[in-house]
Amino acid sequence: MGKVITLFKLLPKKHQILLSILSVITMITMLLPSEEAQASRQTTSIDDQAQINTRYDVPLAFRSPERPELLEGQTDNAPTNATPLSSTDALAAGDANNPATESLESAHHRDVEHFNVKNGDTLAAVFDRAGLTSKDVYEITQLPLAKQNLLKIMPGEEIVISKDINGDLTEVRYRVNAISTLIITKNQNQYQEKISEKDVEIRSHFTSAKIKSNFWNAAVDAGMNANQIMQLSTVFGWDIDFALDLREGDSFAIIYEQEYADGEFLRNGNILAAEFVNQDERYTAIRYTDGNYYSENGTSMRKAFLRSPVDFKYVSSNFNPRRLHPVTGQVKAHRGVDYVAAIGTPIKAAGSGRVIEAGYNQFNGNYVFIKHNDTYTTKYLHLTKRNVSKGASVKQGQIIGTLGKTGRVTGAHLHYEFIVNGVHRNPRTITLPKAESIARKEKNQFDTLSQQLMTTLSQNKQTQLAMQ
Ligand SMILES: [Zn+2]
Repeated sequence: MGKVITLFKLLPKKHQILLSILSVITMITMLLPSEEAQASRQTTSIDDQAQINTRYDVPLAFRSPERPELLEGQTDNAPTNATPLSSTDALAAGDANNPATESLESAHHRDVEHFNVKNGDTLAAVFDRAGLTSKDVYEITQLPLAKQNLLKIMPGEEIVISKDINGDLTEVRYRVNAISTLIITKNQNQYQEKISEKDVEIRSHFTSAKIKSNFWNAAVDAGMNANQIMQLSTVFGWDIDFALDLREGDSFAIIYEQEYADGEFLRNGNILAAEFVNQDERYTAIRYTDGNYYSENGTSMRKAFLRSPVDFKYVSSNFNPRRLHPVTGQVKAHRGVDYVAAIGTPIKAAGSGRVIEAGYNQFNGNYVFIKHNDTYTTKYLHLTKRNVSKGASVKQGQIIGTLGKTGRVTGAHLHYEFIVNGVHRNPRTITLPKAESIARKEKNQFDTLSQQLMTTLSQNKQTQLAMQ
């Protein structure tokens, strides 16, 4: 969620609004499958799907309703000068070397040259190479948008400069980011500037995987990026101990967003729906309009305790349930769960509460005990470093220290204990307090969304199974 907000904030205001509108439209599209969506379902051939291996287009894709339909490589450059500033598409799409694009540009501007920004370049240096006059440089840097963007050029970027038949400057283009291009036009000594923005289109994709060696590899093979993998493990992190409880044969399937600008892939977005089967136990998650995840029945994914105080990505050997105890070298049940990971691995508070002990002794090494309420206490032993002191309040997920090998141990690990009413319990299997459900007034809307997404998910799974 943090990442999404960050991305969202990076976008210009106009796009924030557009994205918000698109999100709403996405939801509506999902709720009421249009004829167009139906059509796209039919036109997705098995061959198309096979080419992209385990990733399939989900028939939820749509295009921004107000965007003019430009074909790839086509620009709306018109000699009439009627819309001289809206012709970014070909350039901004990275088609600088596309001959078709070049010829279209050349038809309008006699001379179009691409200048790469080199190490140590200034705008003046680039303009000098382009043969522009110092008057051009001065006048351009007086324009607000140009000043804001062109003075921050970086090596590897490109500035495209067009001149007319007399060798006079007619246009400067600079790709600000994947969505925005700055265009400055000069016409009879009059400058105009604007940022031309591509429409962001959100498509929904399906992917799934069966875990063979480990979760991370399976997710990467399924086309997920690091953020999505962590997002998936976070969504299910209250139900599944990703560090210790995954097994070969576990599987997952997700529907997630992908953002495109004029057909150009920008980035993967949020996971919209997910199903995870862990040791034959099935878990589901739906992203609701409030940005939170709920099970398909509307129960919040958030619970009072995380299944694991250590992120799975740090923990070695996922599939070794009969792991030797790091102290005695024997397989034995003891009162806690041991997480073997590198010294310095962050340790999270499994739940919110108050630190009732934080100290050092020869057996526990550095340790932290957290009392969550009258019923629950958790203990964290052998830390390298304690980040909290006795009496402190901690939030769920807060880093309370780092994994170590202090105290009576032979190897680095976290010894974690989960105590219910004074009795040690297995935190990985114990039934934890029930989570809150979605608000009653949201329930109908949620159920419709949930059914739509889960139906799409299972349809895609069946399609995939049929092809195997
Ligand atoms: Zn232990």
